Amino acid sequence: MATLVANKPMHIIISGAACSGKGTQCELIKSKYNLIHLSTGDMLRTESAARTELGLIAQEYMNKGELIPDQLIIKLVKSRIQQEDCQKQGWLLDGFPRTAIQAQALLESNIIPDLFIVLQVPDSVLIERVTGRRLDPVTSIIYHIKYNMTTDEQIIARLIQRSDDTIEKITVRLAAYNDQVTAIESHYSKIIAKIDGNRDKMLVFADIDKSIQKLQEIL
Ligand code: AMP
Repeated sequence: MATLVANKPMHIIISGAACSGKGTQCELIKSKYNLIHLSTGDMLRTESAARTELGLIAQEYMNKGELIPDQLIIKLVKSRIQQEDCQKQGWLLDGFPRTAIQAQALLESNIIPDLFIVLQVPDSVLIERVTGRRLDPVTSIIYHIKYNMTTDEQIIARLIQRSDDTIEKITVRLAAYNDQVTAIESHYSKIIAKIDGNRDKMLVFADIDKSIQKLQEIL
């Protein structure tokens, strides 16, 4: 896919519940538009693997499927967005804001997105996707036991299930998402693109791409 660079750096937020396909769509958006992908989940997992102070605190919440405290994640995101690569290339923020307080913090720091994409997928589909999701810790590739499995025995043997991908934890995560979604969306009502995420990934991407192209015309 050819990389397109907008006249001005684009600032995009992608939102959706766990397993709504944000990660997959971010890869497609990133490779076409060369934005810096900021996934708060990935940032926290990196902190946790490095056993930093923040990582150790975050891991406790992540293990329970709960959100980490607003002030910790707000500080992390704000400092990352201020870095030069994000300022020059633009950013694609994934997994933030997840609460009205986080949305308000972005506003107060004058971090204003140009487009707010929401991937909509029914809870029953999300539960099936989450509980079947498996991660290859070597390549970070995500598989699904029913829909997208490798036949390579060596890879199958090392696949793991994320500690927050169980039925109990996804129920907590979905409740937190559904509780906050209306308040968050109200911050972005003028720039929102609601996309049906319960379809083939390339059909979902085609709709996202249309919204981004419209945005490019006005930037
Ligand atoms: P994700 O990979 O986006 O599903 O995030 C995994 C976990 O990281 C979440 O269940 C939360 O515990 C934590 N996390 C990620 N983003 C945020 C956020 N914006 N606010 C609070 N916790 C977050």
